[in-house]
Amino acid sequence: MKQSIAKLIAIVFPLVLAYGLTFYVSFKNLQENDSVTTQVVVPPQQPSEEVSEVEEGPYDETLTLKEGDTLANILSRLGIPSSQAHEVITALAKVFNPKDLKIDQEVYVIYDTQPNGENYDLKFLRLRSDIDHYVELVRTGGSLFQATKYKKELKHEYSNINGSIKISLYADALKAGASPKMLYDMIKAFSYDVDFQRDIQPGTEFSLFYDTYKDEDSGHERPGELLYAKLVLDDKPHEIYRFQPLGGVPGYYTSLGEAVQKALLRTPIDGARINSGFGNRKHPIKGYTKMHKGVDFGAPTGTPIMAAGDGIVERCNKYGAYGNYICIRHVGNTKTVYAHLHRFAKGVSAGSKVRQGQVIGYVGATGNATGAHLHFELIRNGKHENPQKVTQLPKTKLTGAAFNEFKAFIAKIQQTKKEKDQIAMDRNESRLESEELQSPPPFKIDSSLKSS
Ligand SMILES: [Zn+2]
Repeated sequence: MKQSIAKLIAIVFPLVLAYGLTFYVSFKNLQENDSVTTQVVVPPQQPSEEVSEVEEGPYDETLTLKEGDTLANILSRLGIPSSQAHEVITALAKVFNPKDLKIDQEVYVIYDTQPNGENYDLKFLRLRSDIDHYVELVRTGGSLFQATKYKKELKHEYSNINGSIKISLYADALKAGASPKMLYDMIKAFSYDVDFQRDIQPGTEFSLFYDTYKDEDSGHERPGELLYAKLVLDDKPHEIYRFQPLGGVPGYYTSLGEAVQKALLRTPIDGARINSGFGNRKHPIKGYTKMHKGVDFGAPTGTPIMAAGDGIVERCNKYGAYGNYICIRHVGNTKTVYAHLHRFAKGVSAGSKVRQGQVIGYVGATGNATGAHLHFELIRNGKHENPQKVTQLPKTKLTGAAFNEFKAFIAKIQQTKKEKDQIAMDRNESRLESEELQSPPPFKIDSSLKSS
């Protein structure tokens, strides 16, 4: 009898254990599945409150793009079928290039379970296409999506930057927060009057004042137009203002209301690429002498060279010690010469008409040159002149009502700038004060330890 009981236990016990284990596993799977599907088969033993905790759709989520992500793969991770993701992207592409999505960009989505419960349907999507715009995608029924681009209202403000040059105007102003577009405008505007190779020295002070557009929700800012810039050369301020006369086009003017545009550029090369003479020890950067007949601009090989003024190309070929050489004839019996070019720009040859600022070639070291640089000459009435010393009349000067309007514009800019500078100074002072407060008391040597 005892033996048969033991036998029964030996048979029944593993069965009970196996059944229990099966039940436990299926129960556990059920719990895990709860979060991804609402179609749940409830076994009769299951307490009912487990089911009512399942959140009903629709759901919303903010997805963040990681490196290597595409819109298609973040949607598929969410459980959106790939055919639907494709329709989403096709609709979006009409107002936004999905390739413009950046790492860390956020995409807000609303989605819901499909009627058959297998996957999800995307209902709505919103993303920021750039600081000024956002894009919304709405499901309009079936598998149809409609994307619309909206303009975001940004708050207009003014910003300013004050600094001094350590490396170059371009590098230092960029570091201080100026945008490349603003710097391009500034360098171009100053290129008529400033020799970027010789006039700019370490410590040269600069100021920029410009429009800013701010998104108050995210705090992102977009710089607008450069309104004012100042360079202090030899203790003399050079100021430019961006002004649009009534019925005219916007342009830069000096504080006297003279257009910065002149017949000739003083720096006929991209001034941003010049490390302002100092620190450039590889080759001599010569100034004008009777022997040298021109001025040199040291810049990396390939830096674009611009026509200093409108004119006709008289010569464009190899020319002895000058290497690759261009001579342009301008009005007023004036010529400009460009030497040691790495190569000529496409379409430029003897007889071509060129406009001021047009790229005619690229910096090199052909002919007798110790390093890459542009050798630039100015010839007036058959005589060489120092391009740095030539004074030129502005192309236009504001007069009458336009000049009065300009004066009022200057006053407004200077007043706003003064207020901005004051705020920056106050902030700087309070920062310094708080640093003083936070610094630990000076360390004192204990006199008892001194003697030992
Ligand atoms: Zn030279």
